[in-house]
Amino acid sequence: MAATLTGSGIALGFSCSPKFSKRASSSSSNRRCVKMSVSVEEKTKNFTLQKSEEAFNAAKNLMPGGVNSPVRAFKSVGGQPVVMDSAKGSWIRDIDGNEYIDYVGSWGPAIIGHADDEVLAALAETMKKGTSFGAPCLLENVLAEMVISAVPSIEMVRVVNSGTEACMGVLRLARAFTGKEKFIKFEGCYHGHANSFLVKAGSGVATLGLPDSPGVPKSATSDTLTAPYNDIAAVEKLFEANKGEIGAIILEPVVGNSGFITPKPEFINGLRQISKDNGALLIFDEVMTGFRLAYGGAQEYFGITPDLTTLGKIIGGGLPVGAYGGRRDIMEMVAPAGPMYQAGTLSGNPLAMTAGIHTLKRLSQPGTYEYLDKITKELTNGILEAGKKTGHAMCGGYISGMFGFFFTEGPVYDFSDAKKSDTEKFGKFFRGMLEEGVYLAPSQFEAGFTSLAHTAEDIQFTIAVAEKVLSRI
Ligand code: PMP
Repeated sequence: MAATLTGSGIALGFSCSPKFSKRASSSSSNRRCVKMSVSVEEKTKNFTLQKSEEAFNAAKNLMPGGVNSPVRAFKSVGGQPVVMDSAKGSWIRDIDGNEYIDYVGSWGPAIIGHADDEVLAALAETMKKGTSFGAPCLLENVLAEMVISAVPSIEMVRVVNSGTEACMGVLRLARAFTGKEKFIKFEGCYHGHANSFLVKAGSGVATLGLPDSPGVPKSATSDTLTAPYNDIAAVEKLFEANKGEIGAIILEPVVGNSGFITPKPEFINGLRQISKDNGALLIFDEVMTGFRLAYGGAQEYFGITPDLTTLGKIIGGGLPVGAYGGRRDIMEMVAPAGPMYQAGTLSGNPLAMTAGIHTLKRLSQPGTYEYLDKITKELTNGILEAGKKTGHAMCGGYISGMFGFFFTEGPVYDFSDAKKSDTEKFGKFFRGMLEEGVYLAPSQFEAGFTSLAHTAEDIQFTIAVAEKVLSRI
C-alpha cells in the first residue's frame, strides 16, 4: 500500500501528469506524447528532429564531437543526437517540441523525477543566500549526516564534484592507507576517466570502440590489474601473482557501464573475503547504485560492507556532485585530518547540497524502493516478453530503479558476454523507440533508470511501444 501511495502521490504532484496520463492512456498507437505547452499545429505535426540537427551541426564546430560527454553523440546507435530543452517528472522534451518518457534520468540522478517541485523550491531559497562560499556551510553537515546514516560502510565522508573525482580520490586514499600501489578493477566497469581507471573501462569507451585512451601514460596504468567480472578464480590468481602488492579491489557492485549485469553471490562474497585475507581494501563504486538499489545502496541490498565507497549522481539531486567515504580510521588520512591530499573549489557548495538533501529526504520515505522495484519489474518483464513474442533473442534484468536488457540469448555475466549482443539491432530498437516517444540510453552498454515519477501508464505505454518497434525490426 505504501508503494502505491508513494507512486501516485508523487506523480500527482507534477504539473505534466494529467496531460501525460491523457496521452499515455489515449492509445499506444498515438506515438508521441501530448506536448506540455505547445500549439495544436505542433502537436499534430510529424516527428522531426530538424532543430536538433541544426543545433548539433552548429555544436560540432564548437565542441569536440558536438558534445561535452561522448555517449551523448549517439555514435553507437546512428543518427544525430536529440538536443534537449526541458524535463519534468518522467518526461523530457527536445527543442523540436517532441516529448519522451525518459529512462536515462540524466544517467541516474533524476530518481525522484526531473525538476521536482520541492527540490526547485529549496534551490530557489538556497540560491538567494549565495551559490558558493568556498568555506564550510551547514548544509554540508546535513548531507554528510544523511549519507553516513544511510550507507553501512560510511563513517566519514568527503564530498567532491563528480564521480570521476570521487573514484580518483578513493584510489589515492586506498594506496595511501595500505602503502600498496596495485589495484584490481573489472573488465567493463567504469570508474570515471582518471588515468589509472582507463583500462577495459566499459561505457563510453566500449561504445566508441576505443580499447583505451591515447594520452594515458603507461606508467599510470601499470599498477592497474584487471579481471573479468564475476570471475573469482581470476582474482585469486592476481593475488597469487602479486603477493603483498595489491592495495585495493574496486568494482561496480551491480554493473551499469557494460549494460546491466548483477554479481554472482559467490563473486561478491568472495571479494570481501579475499580482500580481507590479503590486506587489501574493498571499494564499492556506488556512483550509480548508491541510493538507487536501496537507500543504503548495493551494500545494503547485498548485505556486504566494503571498506570504502564512492557516490555521485543521486546525492547531488541533478547538480554536480561526488563523494567518497568509509571507515573512520581510513578517512582520517584525508587532508587536513591526515596527509593524503585532495581538495575542491566548489566541493560541498550549498546548491548541490540542497538538491541532494531534498532528493534523499524523498527517497527515505516508506515505500519508495518498493515502488521503483514494482514498476521496473513490470517494465523489464514487459519488454522481454515483447521480445519473445516478436522472436528476438533477448535477456535482461532489474533491481529497484535500475534495469537493462541485451539482444542476445544470455546469460550475461561479464563484459565479453555483453559484447555478444546484437548492437546493430539495439540501434534500430533505440531509434524506433525514440520516434515513438521513449528515450532510452543511446548505447547497448548502459543501464536504464526509472524514477518515482514514472507512472504505471508510462510503463504500459513503453511496453506497447516496445512491442510495436520489436515487431518491425
Ligand atoms: N563510477 C561509475 C560507476 C559511474 O557510473 C560513473 C559515471 N557514469 C562514474 C564513476 C563517473 O562519474 P562522473 O561522470 O560524475 O564523473
